[in-house]
Amino acid sequence: MGERLVVVGGVAGGASAAAKAKRENPDLEVVVYERSGWVSYGACGLPYVLSGEIPRLEKLVARTPEEFRKQGVEIHAHHEVVDVDPELRTLTVFDHKEGRTFQDRYDHLVLATGARPLIPPIPGTEQRGVYTLRSMEDGEALLRALEGAKRAAILGAGYIGLEVAEAFRKRGLEVTLLELKDRPLPHWDGEVGSLLKEELERHGVEVWTGVRVKALRGQGRVEAVETSEGVVPVDLVLLATGIKPNTLLAQAMGVALGPTGAIATDEGMRTNLEGVYAAGDVAESFHRVLKRPYWLPLGDVANKQGRTAGSVIAGKEARFAGVVGTAIFKAFGLAVATTGLSLEAALEEGFQARKVFIQSRDGAHYYPGSQPLWVELVHEEGTGRLLGGAVVARGHGALRIDALAALLHRGGTVEDLLALDLAYAPPYSPVWDPLLIAAQQAR
Ligand code: FAD
Ligand code: NAD
Repeated sequence: MGERLVVVGGVAGGASAAAKAKRENPDLEVVVYERSGWVSYGACGLPYVLSGEIPRLEKLVARTPEEFRKQGVEIHAHHEVVDVDPELRTLTVFDHKEGRTFQDRYDHLVLATGARPLIPPIPGTEQRGVYTLRSMEDGEALLRALEGAKRAAILGAGYIGLEVAEAFRKRGLEVTLLELKDRPLPHWDGEVGSLLKEELERHGVEVWTGVRVKALRGQGRVEAVETSEGVVPVDLVLLATGIKPNTLLAQAMGVALGPTGAIATDEGMRTNLEGVYAAGDVAESFHRVLKRPYWLPLGDVANKQGRTAGSVIAGKEARFAGVVGTAIFKAFGLAVATTGLSLEAALEEGFQARKVFIQSRDGAHYYPGSQPLWVELVHEEGTGRLLGGAVVARGHGALRIDALAALLHRGGTVEDLLALDLAYAPPYSPVWDPLLIAAQQAR
């Protein structure tokens, strides 16, 4: 009998681990248990299904269970792993379709149980008409809710709140975005938040910041949101107030969590238990700027971690090199990309940090259609070490962030940035790339 790999959770981290392990070692038996009805999909695409830009949820599926089976990977949807005995290397699985429990065994186990939405402690969140957006099932429920809905409130102006505000407007809804902190995207510095607020309002989103939501009113179905600034009548409410890692199973079996509350792993995604690995939103990463464990629950990170775990289990050399915290998203006509630390975060971390914030363009000033583009650079005083930055653009100009991310990955400085040979032609950049202009000012 070959060695047996069992993967718990079948979305980004789990599906990547299973596929990679089987590809690298075809003799492995590979089994995936997934609690929900969907496996191997890009949750990142959910806002664009809600907006109608992507016609069906099925389009988000990367690999169907049938395709996995052809590869030799066994997929069991609607199956929840409810217990693991790491001494005996056995697990208890509940089949939600058949309503029965059975035992299985493993030689290698990957925990890829992901994360779940944080529900704020506000009266009324249990009512009908109140939604979260995490899974394909959530997407199905929201698509149904959008039919006939006219007014929506979104709690939280983080990534999901901002992306879904656009989606709801594209569906013709009136949208009120309610953010506890004083600006949209509050984990980044204020200039970016101001650009976002302006863009949202230009597209008809009511943005209420620094607002405390007191209750969701209704008689079993939500009718209004009661806040410190007034009452918002609604047909539906989306809670987009953050997430937390699904670590219950890991904790019950004795897997150690790190300082962030997600599972601690080494560079090969091994946990503290022999034969047990973790990947995706349930696992920590190493932050290369902060030089300590960090939780970055993003899809590209989940894929890389899963692939690393799969390779290591298959006996290949592999390591996940950590993160610098790069992210990008779209809010109507703006693309917002950030990497590393904001100035606020850098100061909180005790860095002697300063920032420059410049406005430039995404093409030569004379090139037809060139658009404004903004760059923020955060760096350490004295050493010039780069700590973070943001690029806000209309269109693809925001992907410039990747040059900055590459420098952060290597511990680069403002001088290193100035020395870069970046691409130039009038349709794509001014002759001095906006990143270089910011670096000159930071010098
Ligand atoms: P999950 O996607 O949470 O999957 C974990 C799975 O494990 C779940 O399906 C769950 O049912 C299953 N599970 C849990 N416990 C058990 C158990 N005991 N037994 C069996 N199964 C179990 N990231 C980006 O980088 N860029 C983006 O643009 C982006 N956009 C996003 C937009 C939205 C709306 C959302 C929700 C997320 C977005 N993300 C984005 C984040 C990205 O989707 C996640 O990082 C990624 O899905 C994490 O994958 P995962 O496999 O670790 O976890
Ligand atoms: P988030 O952490 O990005 O934002 C949550 C927001 O809710 C914060 O601005 C917070 O201040 C606010 N908030 C918290 N409690 C509140 C309350 N009671 N009332 C009003 N506002 C409140 O979390 P999210 O938007 O739920 O997204 C979850 C995760 O999904 C992200 O952490 C990210 O990993 C992932 N994601 C990434 C992308 C992307 O990379 N493009 C897109 C969507 C989702």
